[in-house]
Amino acid sequence: MSTSRVVAIDGPSGSGKSSTSRAVAARLGLAYLDTGAMYRAMTWALLQAKVDVTDAEAVATAAHTVTLASGTDPASPTIYVDGQDVSVPIRGEEVTAAVSPVATVPAVRHLLVARQRDIIAGSDGIVVEGRDIGSVVVPDAAVKIYLVADPGARAVRRAAETGATDASATERSLVRRDQIDSTRATSPLLKATGAVQIDSTHLSLDDVVQAIVDIAHASLEAAR
Ligand code: C5P
Repeated sequence: MSTSRVVAIDGPSGSGKSSTSRAVAARLGLAYLDTGAMYRAMTWALLQAKVDVTDAEAVATAAHTVTLASGTDPASPTIYVDGQDVSVPIRGEEVTAAVSPVATVPAVRHLLVARQRDIIAGSDGIVVEGRDIGSVVVPDAAVKIYLVADPGARAVRRAAETGATDASATERSLVRRDQIDSTRATSPLLKATGAVQIDSTHLSLDDVVQAIVDIAHASLEAAR
């Protein structure tokens, strides 16, 4: 598949990437890949195997034994570890607290980026969300979006998604993950060259989706 049908959507936790990416994929008739779910599923598998997730060497060794499978239908994305549906447990607090350290391990990123590129290459056009999609995974994607929002707005949205009652605790957890994700040596979270930045703090989901669909249509027209 040519990268002219890849839409890369990066940004920090809670910026609205998942809802936005799924809606954009549905509007454009494209597949959808949640790469954050892959890092979460890897983390879940390591925790299940009682691997010390702060030990980078142990994580790197154990990561090779984990088999992930991602379903790419935007209406019902799925994620499996060794055949088991893990879509619910990967959203739990234990995984959320451990995922950013696991995602700093280069061997984990190497494995998952290779898997992501296979899925993208096997698709007929796809919206991919994450932290390093426009910078590392598909730097020549036709459309690159960097979605941001104020930490307070992101915490309120994330708390509404997870049912958490303490938005300020959610905000502290988001800011902590942002800090680890933005300062890691391998593929830090950053605005990729050529990415369009959209601040969703004061925009509705529909507004953000429409803005990205318009950008995608313009690039697909230009690529004709
Ligand atoms: O998007 P989500 O919040 O589910 O991602 C969970 C974590 O996975 C992020 O905080 C980050 O540490 C990691 N991640 C990453 N690279 C990606 C996607 C997610 O490092 N492309």
